[in-house]
Amino acid sequence: MEAIAALLLKNDCFKLDGPLPQSARDEIAKADPAIYTDSACALGGQVYMLKKIPRGRRLLAFATGGSEPAPGFSGDSASLSGGITAKICDTEHANSLLLRDLFPFTRPMTLDLKTSFGMGDRIGNATPGHIRASKGYDFAPILPQQSIREMTRTGRSPENVMDDACWAVFQCGYRRPFGADADHLKTEDDVRSTFAAGFTFFTIDPSDQLNFDADNMPEEEIDKAFDALFKNVKDKESLLERYSRKLEIADPETGLKAVFSTEPYTVRRIAVKFLQAIRHTVRMYRILLDLAGSADRFDFEMSVDETPKPTTLFEHLFVALELKRKGVTLQSLAPRFPGEFQKGIDYIGDADTFKATLERHALIARHYGPYKLSIHSGSDKFSIFPIVGEVTRGLFHEKTAGTSYLEAMRVVARKAPALYREIHAFALSRFEEDRASYHVTTKLSAIPDVNKIADDHLEFLFDAIDSRQLIHITYGSALTQRGEDGKLVFYDRIMDVLDEFEEDYYNGLASHFERHIKSLGIPPLK
Ligand code: ZN
Repeated sequence: MEAIAALLLKNDCFKLDGPLPQSARDEIAKADPAIYTDSACALGGQVYMLKKIPRGRRLLAFATGGSEPAPGFSGDSASLSGGITAKICDTEHANSLLLRDLFPFTRPMTLDLKTSFGMGDRIGNATPGHIRASKGYDFAPILPQQSIREMTRTGRSPENVMDDACWAVFQCGYRRPFGADADHLKTEDDVRSTFAAGFTFFTIDPSDQLNFDADNMPEEEIDKAFDALFKNVKDKESLLERYSRKLEIADPETGLKAVFSTEPYTVRRIAVKFLQAIRHTVRMYRILLDLAGSADRFDFEMSVDETPKPTTLFEHLFVALELKRKGVTLQSLAPRFPGEFQKGIDYIGDADTFKATLERHALIARHYGPYKLSIHSGSDKFSIFPIVGEVTRGLFHEKTAGTSYLEAMRVVARKAPALYREIHAFALSRFEEDRASYHVTTKLSAIPDVNKIADDHLEFLFDAIDSRQLIHITYGSALTQRGEDGKLVFYDRIMDVLDEFEEDYYNGLASHFERHIKSLGIPPLK
């Protein structure tokens, strides 16, 4: 601390505002290699920086002239020579809130229609890798992003997710806009708790209100179910009336046309399938509107990607029109696209069919929004990424969730082979149960016996489809498994490895996500 304080004085850092110059940061790195020098910055006559400690971080603050460093933050203060006072603060929640007030660049913001990419961080330490990947490109990353299902499985709260990401933003000195996605929210409570934690992007998943049976109901049943949707006849008739005419959309740029004319029966079937889900989404939107005060204070997505059948163009049109009628402004919509979007592996399906369908979905999104098309389970879909970038003309949101965990486990396989083999065996034992809420076609028989793989070849398991999915899907069990003594079996050892080989982890994440960014055609920053 003394050495750093002397450096700050010598370099006149207390008179600066913003990031410290590179020369001062280099000197700090030499004095204490545990300082994240990208974080070092001056504000209001004080200097702040983040320091690494085993399995954690500490905020260091320095002030001159007897003033209190990092006012309000809880921590331990010390008087140093040269009239400098220093304070060491931990990264607890109350200090995290103060950090976001003091440094607004650590606070997520709304992104509206800016091209965006949510990378997802289940363990809470991947964000610096995401930032490293994003830095040079013209889009906004979503840094805190977690679904309620993921938080339940990893034992994290919306506040944890937000705090972890914001400290990482500070660690990296990242000063560009980023969003925070409360993903796959199903209930009013989900919306309220994530809003309170500071999320800015809300993905409503109304799959509990979708009536999947509608696809297979006989006509009389559809009629009955349709009638039951309405309290008064006028609403019912006006809905049918809205879709009684031919609807035609054309793209002025390419001449591409989509014509929608549908018999009343199809309209009734789609209403039976979607109307309750739309009404639920509208309710969630109004709750957010009430909480936020105005529509430009949050980004709003509706996701229907987790459905058994692809979303038809008419279904998309129906959802878009009905939401718009109710005053909902979408920033993005996640249809279920044709083909398969399995976790952690490339697209399975016909790329030409995907392209033709995406062109029409994009046409609807531009015409009735504009809003972004959201690509869920978007990791590793390299064969269709160029199509997504081109067809949507940048009006897309790419969403991945679990591949950062795979990159973490790749580091474990490389650096701690014995631990990896234990986790692998455990994952095999959990797979059947854990796969229930995911759509995957993993063949366990195709995964080689880890005891027969040499240490330095273990990481190649992360280049093969079946072993990727095995590890991808069992993350919650592996991270929260407790032994008979009540202690976590794997979690601490995984975190220790990632802590020790932090740079390997960040670089692995950066190259994985940069490949996505380039393949999606996201341009470099000018
Ligand atoms: Zn999804």
